[in-house]
Amino acid sequence: MFSNILPSIRKTGSYNITNMNKIKTLNKEIIQLKNNQRNIKYPKGKAIYIIKKVINNKKYYKIGYTKDLNKRLKVYNTGTPNKQLYKYFCLIKDASIDKCIKKYMRNKEFIKNKEYYVANMKQIIKIINNCDKRITELCCGYCMKCKKLKDITYHKCKYTY
Ligand SMILES: [Zn+2]
Repeated sequence: MFSNILPSIRKTGSYNITNMNKIKTLNKEIIQLKNNQRNIKYPKGKAIYIIKKVINNKKYYKIGYTKDLNKRLKVYNTGTPNKQLYKYFCLIKDASIDKCIKKYMRNKEFIKNKEYYVANMKQIIKIINNCDKRITELCCGYCMKCKKLKDITYHKCKYTY
C-alpha cells in the first residue's frame, strides 16, 4: 500500500482522503502491534483503573477497582489477539471507593457484553471526584506518567494514537 503513495502524489499533486484513512488505520495497527510486544508491569497495590474501548467508532470508558492491576489485566487479555492496556490508573489507599464506583456505574449506559461503561472521561472524573476527594491524579497506563485529574485528558502519549 505504501508503494502507491508517492506515484499517486506525483500524478495528481495530492493524495486522497480514502488513502489517508488507510494510512491512519495502518498507523493504529503498528502502534497496537508495538504495544502487544511491550511487557508492562503496573505498580502493586489497590487501584482504580480506566479502560477505553472503541466500538463502531464510539469511545466507551469503564472504571473499575482491583487489588492487583497486573492480575486483572491478564483476565482482560485472555483470548484477545490485541493486548488491552489500562488507559489510566491510580493507586489508592481506601478500598471503599469500590462500592461507590459500582453505585454510580449501575445507572450508566451498558453495552451488549453486560459490562458497564460510562460514555466519556468527564463523567469518569466526576465519579472519581464524588467518590474520593483525596484522589487528585491519574496515571497513563501506557507510559506511566501521572497528571492532575483536570489535565489528564490533555496528555498526548507516544504509545497511543
Ligand atoms: Zn502516556
